[in-house]
Amino acid sequence: MTVYTNYGKSRCDLTTVRSRIAAGAFSDIVDVSDAMDFIHISHDQIDEYCRLSSEIRDYGHGDVITFSPKVFIPLTRLCRDFCGYCTFRQNPSEAEDLYLSPAQVLEVATKAETLGCTEALFTLGERPELRYSEAKNWLKSRGYRTTIEYLVDMCKLVSSDTSLIPHVNPGTMSYREMSQLRPYSGSMGIMLESLSEDLHSPGGPHEFAPSKRPSVRIKTTKIAGELNIPFTSGILIGIGESRLDRVQALFAILDIQKNYGNIQEVIIQNFRSKENIPMRHVPDAESLELRWTIATARIILGSHANIQVPPNLNADDYETYISAGINDWGGVSPLTIDYVNPESPWPKLAELNNRTSGMGFNLVPRLPIYPEYFINTDRYTTPEIKRKLLQLSDYQGYVKGGVRGYVEPK
Ligand code: SF4
Repeated sequence: MTVYTNYGKSRCDLTTVRSRIAAGAFSDIVDVSDAMDFIHISHDQIDEYCRLSSEIRDYGHGDVITFSPKVFIPLTRLCRDFCGYCTFRQNPSEAEDLYLSPAQVLEVATKAETLGCTEALFTLGERPELRYSEAKNWLKSRGYRTTIEYLVDMCKLVSSDTSLIPHVNPGTMSYREMSQLRPYSGSMGIMLESLSEDLHSPGGPHEFAPSKRPSVRIKTTKIAGELNIPFTSGILIGIGESRLDRVQALFAILDIQKNYGNIQEVIIQNFRSKENIPMRHVPDAESLELRWTIATARIILGSHANIQVPPNLNADDYETYISAGINDWGGVSPLTIDYVNPESPWPKLAELNNRTSGMGFNLVPRLPIYPEYFINTDRYTTPEIKRKLLQLSDYQGYVKGGVRGYVEPK
């Protein structure tokens, strides 16, 4: 992991960025010492900063803003870790089901299929069997040693019995585990969240979350690169990190992308305060900070990067983040809630469509694997997953039938 400390002399301002864009530089626009100057972007400069990042986004994505029609499958909410902002995790005594059964998984996936969903998002806690004997025994009684072994079988089930393509988020994963998941899960992800070690200090949100150590998350991300797995990374803002921390995290993601090429999307997720979390007294991440971070991500990661903001975490003004440089809304479910942010309902697809088109952009449904990771390449997919992707997609690699499959034309 590279942590940049050589910040160099101040030499990059918005005029410099604009002249580099005018000269045709839509990737590698800035280096790390340039980016350090962006840390000082003020309220007065933010509109101009966002205009630049939007210009870069337009070059790579035109007027297309994507979303993934998905169903959320919380395979288990047990987790060995405790994060200060989490409402997802449960102790065994709180959980209605320790794990969803195969029948429950299949029921929700089948229902989602009838609603036109194409992604089965498996989100689950980190290795609960290491903390809870209940989890270990539940798995053992069904012939599994680990939660990830069970996850492999549930991905296999959804892959074989529905048209959905699994995307998994089980936390840290080993080479062996990811190799076992790869034939049945088209894409995978782990948020880097932050490179800040301070967040692990006493009282910090990651004090009791060893899986949130930057080094282990970078390791999982690199293994995904070695295995050519289309992968989601991202950062979490407003949890006590600084702008400098965010810049460093974005360059760490860029480093991996340059080495392996498999980072298919980067989520910029804003912290939302909730009543029932240890961080309930911490205010929501500010809109200005979210805009700054999106624009910085776009300028650092370049025109072709897929940069995502969850619309349900920004219900009042999510369309304004298009103007900061995003090109994707992530998964939106017509069926299940966001179990990680249950207080924040997904927008209705008709509303998402209207608010996206109101900004002059076209809302387009995508698959869990972005087109550039399966159209004209076999590197990132197994033949079976590729076959499914081609069945579900149009000639551009988006979901067949477009947004009209989900939303009545106006
Ligand atoms: S955020 Fe993830 S790792 Fe942290 S406690 Fe919640 S489920 Fe566990």
